[in-house]
Amino acid sequence: MRKVRCNFCGSDHFEERRTEYLYSHKGQYLLVPNTPVEVCLNCGMVYYEAAVLKRIEQRFFAIYRNEQEPDRYVQMPEAAYA
Ligand SMILES: [Zn+2]
Repeated sequence: MRKVRCNFCGSDHFEERRTEYLYSHKGQYLLVPNTPVEVCLNCGMVYYEAAVLKRIEQRFFAIYRNEQEPDRYVQMPEAAYA
């Protein structure tokens, strides 16, 4: 998962974090808490590993084909005061 250089700013300082990822496909959504990402400490660019995104995508389609149950449902929308 380690990146050599940030594509955006060229920095090689990264930190592994967990974030909430919202997968969307044709107006349907899957919210994935605790998605592992790498964040560039210099510019804040977030990098997702291809294997992670693939797994989220597979889960999304399994849920919408009723092959899997989601862990829970959340009500949308949510808006943070910014
Ligand atoms: Zn960067």
